[in-house]
Amino acid sequence: MEGETVSKNFIEQIIEKDLAEGHCSTVRTRFPPEPNGYLHIGHAKSILLNYGLAREYGGQFNMRFDDTNPTKERAEFVESIKEDIQWLGADWEDRLFFASDYFEQMYEAALKLIRKGKAYVCDLSAEEIREYRGTLTEPGKDSPYRDRSVEENLTLFEDMKAGKYRDGEKVLRAKIDMASPNINMRDPILYRVARMTHHNTGDTWCIYPMYDFAHPIEDAIEGITHSICTLEFEDHRPLYDWVVRELEYENPPKQIEFAKLYLTNVVTGKRYIKKLVEDGIVDGWDDPRLVSIAALRRRGFTPESIQRFVELCGVSKGNSSVDYAMLEYCIREDLKLKKSRMMAVLDPIKLVIDNYPEGETEELEADNNLENEALGKRRIPFCRELYIEREDFMEEPPKKYFRLFPGNEVRLMHAYFVKCTGFVKDEAGNVTEVHCTYDPETKAGSGFTGRKVKGTIHWVPAPYALTAQARLYENIVNEELGVYNEDGSINLNPNSLTVRNCYVEPALADAKAYDSFQFVRQGFFCVDAKDSKPGELVFNRIVSLKSSYKLPAAK
Ligand code: ATP
Ligand code: MG
Repeated sequence: MEGETVSKNFIEQIIEKDLAEGHCSTVRTRFPPEPNGYLHIGHAKSILLNYGLAREYGGQFNMRFDDTNPTKERAEFVESIKEDIQWLGADWEDRLFFASDYFEQMYEAALKLIRKGKAYVCDLSAEEIREYRGTLTEPGKDSPYRDRSVEENLTLFEDMKAGKYRDGEKVLRAKIDMASPNINMRDPILYRVARMTHHNTGDTWCIYPMYDFAHPIEDAIEGITHSICTLEFEDHRPLYDWVVRELEYENPPKQIEFAKLYLTNVVTGKRYIKKLVEDGIVDGWDDPRLVSIAALRRRGFTPESIQRFVELCGVSKGNSSVDYAMLEYCIREDLKLKKSRMMAVLDPIKLVIDNYPEGETEELEADNNLENEALGKRRIPFCRELYIEREDFMEEPPKKYFRLFPGNEVRLMHAYFVKCTGFVKDEAGNVTEVHCTYDPETKAGSGFTGRKVKGTIHWVPAPYALTAQARLYENIVNEELGVYNEDGSINLNPNSLTVRNCYVEPALADAKAYDSFQFVRQGFFCVDAKDSKPGELVFNRIVSLKSSYKLPAAK
């Protein structure tokens, strides 16, 4: 960021020290998602952090699917994850890996530990293993199988691999210390027997490595220098270090933990998003009310806005929540100068200009974005009948209401001054039509200075306007009550989606999926990629225009 002094975050400091002291000569990071769901904004932080560090130090960024747990993994997720990461702009070049590619090496690594007397086959049941493990305050006790000979362990482990045992009948455990104050070090399980078909290796294996054993091996094989993960793995670090040390890797990777990104009033947990999807509360993983990356993209967020957001969040060791308004701030800032400012009427009422010749149309010219000339100009047809927002007319206005009311004159954006002369009501007393006269001398761009008006309103020409759907969003969870109820269910906001049939300028006829625009006074909108069709445009409101959000002062 130009003009700002940015101090290095704690991970950068560690990396620079490692480089300076020769612990590593290059930087290699990775992003290791489990393909068991879609990525969300929290993952974006991890991706951009890992990718950013590799770039910053001229190193490499690997993409690796952590697919050691076959039950939950689905090929669909592999594809969506790849797409999301590419969209975010993180480039793994030709380094796309799968943990399952290393199953053979992991098996060899297990044999090595057995030969070193550092691992043993244990026959205790899962239940018994838990009992033997002890608690935070009491040490565990040794398994009766702990002192099996190397030969016996080798035979039993090979038999596990050969399918001689039922699921759960035997496990391979590290031989570390049942009295360790860190429970993760009390002879953790390295391998289990599980007959599961793996999406990559099929039925080749009936034993699968545990995460804490597999992960450091994956990192070491790929030559990862800094294995960055979130805080919940801090207590696992001694085990991570134990694995890479006992396996005698030449350049052992270093695990570094940082705090997860949490957003206020937003559901980020994969489990919860999954539940909303499965319960049909949202229309898929990419429902624009979610903060999965697919949802943010569909809603109209840009990679740049997410990059900026992650940058502003910073990296730390302390858990905290970031205000969703900061994400909104980032997208507003990103789109402000990049997007055309169009007119759309979300709650229409007809405005008739009684002194405008019937059947006549003129073309008015409008700047697409006054602050960015490069976006050019467009033409808008203007005629006798227009639509304006219902709230831009009031029969009996309160003080300081400067829009249309009987006798008042306003500016129609990009067009003329009009003066309200009357209105029509239906039997129920609803205003159905507003009448006015226009003053031809006041044409926008004509240099008219004769008099001033206090209000400017937007409009669309009734015969030429396109009908469209606008979807307005609020947080999916109830802001007042917090995200979760006491029973763990999600506190849904019944108003999280409002659908409006609206009118938009004819210039939007060719808008395509993911195109986005500012609709003046209404916000930024993006063409919905799932439901929008030519002639039946659907726009998602990305964000409204105004916010009371202020960027926190630089640290
Ligand atoms: P979730 O908790 O949402 O289910 P996860 O941690 O199970 O996510 P993984 O696929 O295992 O998801 O995560 C891949 C990487 O993303 C891990 O390194 C993990 O630490 C990181 N990550 C997950 N959630 C966040 C978050 N909220 N903020 C930052 N990084 C995250
Ligand atoms: Mg996980």
